[in-house]
Amino acid sequence: LGVRHVIGSNTGTDALILALKALRIGAGDEVVVQANTFYASVGAIVAVGARPVFVDCDEQYAIDHRNIEAALTGKTRAIMAVWWTGVPPEFSAITEIARRRNLAVIEDACPATGGAYDGRPAGSLGHIAAFSMHPLKPLHVWGDGGAVVTSDDKASEWLRTYRNHGMKNRDEIAFWGVNQRLQSVQAVVANHILDRVGPWVDRRNQIARRLDAGLEGVPEVVRPPRPPNRRNAFQLYIVCVQRRDELVRYLIGNGIEAKVHYPIPLHLQPAARELGYAKGDFPVAERQAAEIVTLPGHQFLTNDEVDYTIETVRKFYKR
Ligand SMILES: *Cc1c(COP(=O)(O)O)cnc(C)c1O
Repeated sequence: LGVRHVIGSNTGTDALILALKALRIGAGDEVVVQANTFYASVGAIVAVGARPVFVDCDEQYAIDHRNIEAALTGKTRAIMAVWWTGVPPEFSAITEIARRRNLAVIEDACPATGGAYDGRPAGSLGHIAAFSMHPLKPLHVWGDGGAVVTSDDKASEWLRTYRNHGMKNRDEIAFWGVNQRLQSVQAVVANHILDRVGPWVDRRNQIARRLDAGLEGVPEVVRPPRPPNRRNAFQLYIVCVQRRDELVRYLIGNGIEAKVHYPIPLHLQPAARELGYAKGDFPVAERQAAEIVTLPGHQFLTNDEVDYTIETVRKFYKR
């Protein structure tokens, strides 16, 4: 990754919580985050006592950097830059805003092991980053696992101690901590597959290109832009489509595991009620929530299987 410290943790969510705590973010602080990420990005912010402030997303399903400034207040401490579904967010703009406004950049790189932005690996672009090793992520274990990564020596030392009860040694604790360690057996699994992650992400990119090419010219299917100099980890392959729910049923009926990640944007979740957002606040995230579909794109698919997905989508819109 090109960072000095990788600190194992028991989940990606806890890695995010640890990252926020290492930056001393807590009650009274605000963290800017996109309205269409996985629940854990926001859950972690709330878990440390801070307030999530949502920002709309762009056509790549990443945070729209043009909307960040308007979301900043005197209480903002950090921008959480999410590699949502493996997509590299616009780091040049994000880090420029953070530098100018004296904010930290926390990467939620949970789904993005193997991703890169301008040749720099996911996890090396912010002040601190969190990875997940859940079975749905490119580097995965046989259950839950995660890691916090940073080049900050002091933060690293604090993290290693805090995630291990605050123990200086067996008999003395330096401060009150918790147990958020990575299980040894899971570390063995992660080590075992570590060298395969690069080739797997290569294969996911190949499959994404095949799906992109195969779906080109279908007017009901809109593929996101794919800017150059970025390596998407393709944890999920997502496109926007018309008649989404009908398509999902049709694909499932034809043996294709189509899914929606996710049908309700975070600001409209029941859990977000006290944050005071309303329908219409984030029009891009809201439109995408009604149009996105995830098609199978994992590394073990054969080209024939990928082509079957393409043919089935095409058949649906020709009927
Ligand atoms: C998977 C994921 C998480 C949470 O990781 P867990 O290991 O499941 O706790 C957080 N954020 C994003 C964007 C994710 O994709």
